Amino acid sequence: MSRLAEVIPLAEVERIATVQAKGRSMAQVKAQEGCAYILNSYFYDLSTGRPVGHVKARGEVLSQAAWNCYGLSWDTGADVRMEVIPDRGGENWLSGVELLAPGRGPGAELDYPAAYGGRRGRSAVLLAGERLVLYCSKDGTSQAKTPEELRDELAELGREYAAGESLRALGLDSGGSSQCMFPGGEIHSSRRAAGYLCVWVKKKEDGRVKGRYRVVPSVGVNIRSGPGSGFPKGGAYSRGTTVEVLELRDGWGRTKEGWVCMDYLEAAPDGQEGQRRTDSGVAIVPDLIPPGSANRPGGVNACTYITVHETGNTAQGADAAAHGAYLKSEAAARDKVSWHYTVDDRSIVQHLPDGESAYHAGDGARGPGNLCSIGIEICVDRGGNFEAAKANAAALVRLLVKEHGIPLERVVQHNRWNGKDCPYTIRHTAGAWEEFLALCGGNTNSAPWYAQAQDWVRTQGVSGVDRPGDPATRAEVWQMLYNMRHGA
Ligand SMILES: [Zn+2]
Repeated sequence: MSRLAEVIPLAEVERIATVQAKGRSMAQVKAQEGCAYILNSYFYDLSTGRPVGHVKARGEVLSQAAWNCYGLSWDTGADVRMEVIPDRGGENWLSGVELLAPGRGPGAELDYPAAYGGRRGRSAVLLAGERLVLYCSKDGTSQAKTPEELRDELAELGREYAAGESLRALGLDSGGSSQCMFPGGEIHSSRRAAGYLCVWVKKKEDGRVKGRYRVVPSVGVNIRSGPGSGFPKGGAYSRGTTVEVLELRDGWGRTKEGWVCMDYLEAAPDGQEGQRRTDSGVAIVPDLIPPGSANRPGGVNACTYITVHETGNTAQGADAAAHGAYLKSEAAARDKVSWHYTVDDRSIVQHLPDGESAYHAGDGARGPGNLCSIGIEICVDRGGNFEAAKANAAALVRLLVKEHGIPLERVVQHNRWNGKDCPYTIRHTAGAWEEFLALCGGNTNSAPWYAQAQDWVRTQGVSGVDRPGDPATRAEVWQMLYNMRHGA
């Protein structure tokens, strides 16, 4: 795991504390404190281990600088806020790098020491509405970020829960210090940080019952072989999955496939319709645009075509959930833009019922693209896995084809309706569209795709196609495979 962002409702926070490691490893601190979450926290002098800046823990001032700044302040935990410290701080405070603060909204210039710069593993705390988000990425991985990239990613994460201007985020000690243990995953570093932020959550066993629950975090939850994070992992449930909890023990629930931490589940309403899910197991998460919004016209969609788009949004964190939030915003209503599904590398979010028309094809309110097709946007966010996103989109197409009886010939590019160069990446990668259609047609065994192509080439006795990795050849071979499958 190289990046984790755990969302904790403040109402569920029992206590937050800054704990000095005093030579102990993160795992030892966590075990002795018995907290649910632990994350490296304050900056410290590497040679002496002494905290730097403002640190007050459980009423005891560990370090105080001569200046005031914005930092985290809290008395017990659920009251955590960003405040001018030390002047207006409570029983606990913590300074760091102001990533999002009053007067320093998303996109604003940052002010940090040179040592904090560069692309590194990052630790941070984000306050978004009624949520506390603990963030950690591993140093030296593709998830390492500059402070500005971290700020932007946190702003995107936070927009799911609150307006951009009200978001607050503090950068904690980063690089080799970045490490955490959360119920949903862990990031380890060989460095023993001087201090950790520990979060305890309220015990929820009381009143909990066996039954149907839905997975809440955007990263999903791990499935373990026993009731605790010490047991081996055996897979994960993606966000929105409905699970049946058969047994409860120590805050963990046993499902058909293994144990999951109950803190990540919310009770699924009774009488809920059967959950839609692709044949590859990805749950379809409804996040519908409110009825009456200007970008939800409410007309009838004939569902005779499926239109494939790419979001064109390469910003970090511009995933399916983020687009769901966007479609419910005033900007999307004003611009009259909408579609039915957004797909990223781990989830599928539905914005409109299939049977309602939308504004995605660019061919006018009465255009056949808008009136007859189901619009799917594939995410191209930086840091996301585009191949996995395409595979999920193809799985969604397979489901829609089955549900609505849409022939594969009517799975089309946005380009068909108004000439727009969309889906851009697919259109500009030789063979990618044919490969996508083959996946939509049920050819799920695409890895490695060229093995099948080579077999075909061998049986057909075609000469000169001995390097199927070559883009031109790849396109030709896929076209041939596709034509064969559809009898063209
Ligand atoms: Zn498009």
